[in-house]
Amino acid sequence: MRIFAVGRNYAEHIQELNNERPTEPVIFTKPDTAILRNNAPFYHPEFSKDIHHEVELVLRVCKEGKNIEEKFAHKYYDAIGLGVDFTARDLQQKAKEKGLPWDIAKGFNGSAPISDVFKPVSEFSDLKNISFSLQVNGVTKQEGNTSMMLFSFDYIIAYLSTFFTLRTGDLIFTGTPKGVSAVKPGDVLTGFLEKEKMFEFSVK
Ligand code: MG
Repeated sequence: MRIFAVGRNYAEHIQELNNERPTEPVIFTKPDTAILRNNAPFYHPEFSKDIHHEVELVLRVCKEGKNIEEKFAHKYYDAIGLGVDFTARDLQQKAKEKGLPWDIAKGFNGSAPISDVFKPVSEFSDLKNISFSLQVNGVTKQEGNTSMMLFSFDYIIAYLSTFFTLRTGDLIFTGTPKGVSAVKPGDVLTGFLEKEKMFEFSVK
């Protein structure tokens, strides 16, 4: 199982980090050791002073494929969950300035908490109008809707499969809306997909 992720997929998040709007999706990966399940706590690592939460919809791949045409892409994912793409923003910023890879800043242990429940795609009436949000200590910090994505689920699947063979069980983080900020020990993060609570875990 691999974890793929898309950066810079929501315009207002691109603005808040002063990034360039991409003409193609920005792709990175995380190792499977990044995954946290069962609302396990996130242990704030000492190597960063600026770990940001990025709440994201996560696609689950249900079929192996490569070079998938966008019009067939919907057949390759069957469920949507919610996750956090934790990012060591200070390390990422250093890497960006030097043109170096983001692996450490994005892929460290525990950097990918995901919901235990993934909702079947068939339960959504419109994939281009799915809302999700993140609360920190009961205060809403991020609110997103797939209508605001630069690159749709189907486009992301088609694009990724040009370079990587997708396999059943792979997860794809699809980008975060604006509102990212640093977390600290004691914080409680709660994620919602539509109105449904999908995860709640603490930072230690
Ligand atoms: Mg992200």
